[in-house]
Amino acid sequence: MHGPLLLPGHNGYDSARRIWNGAFDKFPGLIAQCGNPSDVKRAVDFARSNNLLVAIKSGGHSMSGKSTCDGGLLIDLSKMVGVHVDPFNKTARVEPGTLLGEFDYECTSFGLATTMGTDPDTGAAGLTLGGGFGRLGRLHGLACDNLRSADVITADGRFIRASEEQNQDLLWALRGGGGNFGAVSSFEYNLHSIPETIYGGQLMYSVKHAKDVLTMFADFIQTAPDELSAALVYVVPKGGKKNSGFISIGLTYIGDIAAGEKLVAPLRHSMKPMMDRMGPKTYMDEQGRNGRLPRGQMYYMKSGFTHGITPQLIDTYTEIAEPHPKRSFTGLITMLGGQISRVGNNETAFAHRDAHSDCMIAGSWKKPEDSEENVANMRSLWKKVEPHTKGFYVNAAYDFTDQKVRGTYGANFDRLQAIKTQYDPNNMFRLNANIKPKA
Ligand SMILES: Cc1cc2nc3c(=O)[nH]c(=O)nc-3n(C[C@H](O)[C@H](O)[C@H](O)COP(=O)(O)OP(=O)(O)OC[C@H]3O[C@@H](n4cnc5c(N)ncnc54)[C@H](O)[C@@H]3O)c2cc1C
Repeated sequence: MHGPLLLPGHNGYDSARRIWNGAFDKFPGLIAQCGNPSDVKRAVDFARSNNLLVAIKSGGHSMSGKSTCDGGLLIDLSKMVGVHVDPFNKTARVEPGTLLGEFDYECTSFGLATTMGTDPDTGAAGLTLGGGFGRLGRLHGLACDNLRSADVITADGRFIRASEEQNQDLLWALRGGGGNFGAVSSFEYNLHSIPETIYGGQLMYSVKHAKDVLTMFADFIQTAPDELSAALVYVVPKGGKKNSGFISIGLTYIGDIAAGEKLVAPLRHSMKPMMDRMGPKTYMDEQGRNGRLPRGQMYYMKSGFTHGITPQLIDTYTEIAEPHPKRSFTGLITMLGGQISRVGNNETAFAHRDAHSDCMIAGSWKKPEDSEENVANMRSLWKKVEPHTKGFYVNAAYDFTDQKVRGTYGANFDRLQAIKTQYDPNNMFRLNANIKPKA
């Protein structure tokens, strides 16, 4: 191999085995830290010959800890980093270990971008394979909609390309079907021109006015144009007093600054925010606005798609967002729709085109001994939110059953299962929202 093979005790083993979510402290038997696609092929061949459990890590941001394993082989692609922009054809070829910050930086150097998530530390690979929404989603579709082609090492060791010209079924499955179908060693995207300056920022409110802020947000996004993306974040710190925390509404308008300012003005003036950080920004400013959620802390999150932010959902959200002595609470409502919803539910594997928004709750803490209690507590909170949702985003799923995976892929499940059976009949790639092959 070009990259190192790491065993427990080797230099670099410990950092390579870790992922973003510190709740998953696992110890692979062997780590193949790949340097190029031929390394990936060798690792897959070795796993098949030795019947090993396989985990694949790209950006390592799997919320549910699927990009590492106990025992088995971790195929670590995090060192395969690179973005090759073709500004003439508005495309980019991206290596699997590339993080969003690097991706955005390279593309915006040419005045281009494509839909990626909002935390610069997240991996483009896992994000794209599960769908991928972000500030450009309502204007240009999901990250997976902008995926032109992917190079894949299949379970039987073949190196193939999935595109509109060849292996079309596989491309369809990779657009939202997760890491079920093989190890992807390269991604090619469509890019879009992005104005040098856009309008964006955030408005912050006290949680004392939570219901009013959520209602105002729900009303405002109802009629928003595709150029506007919006997300509401509800943060309650660990051990806080009643009414501690804040609510932030993040807004990005990809277009004329004056038009964006005019659109957002009613929101800025109807309820006085504690802080108003709206103004002209670069796209990179906006992409870096939320910062990076620290690696290594313990996190638990659950999410589901909603078909509207109803008064009942608002009541539930404000009821559960109470201070807790052992964990923080974050609620996140991300507006979807626009171009995302103009693609048919069965045109790609991502089956939730008609969703209005994605609704998530997350808790985080630092002491492993608090995990059991905090996870149980977060699960009980999610039980209250879940009835307001329909299906879930596989990239933001935590503990899911086969039944739930089948349910979230809905009418696309049978086709996905047939493609899985064709490319991975023995389920080598199973550490994901797993689509089991037919027996
Ligand atoms: C802080 C944070 C912010 C986020 N923000 C957003 C957001 O704004 N928008 C959004 O859509 N999502 C967001 N997500 C969810 C994110 O899309 C997923 O966590 C995604 O899986 C991260 O990709 P990764 O490459 O870092 O993951 P990894 O942990 O490396 O992998 C995740 C899964 O994908 C599989 N996989 C990864 N790479 C490959 C590959 N090359 N070939 C085959 N399978 C592979 C792995 O096996 C694993 O099952 C966020 C997550 C976090 C933790």
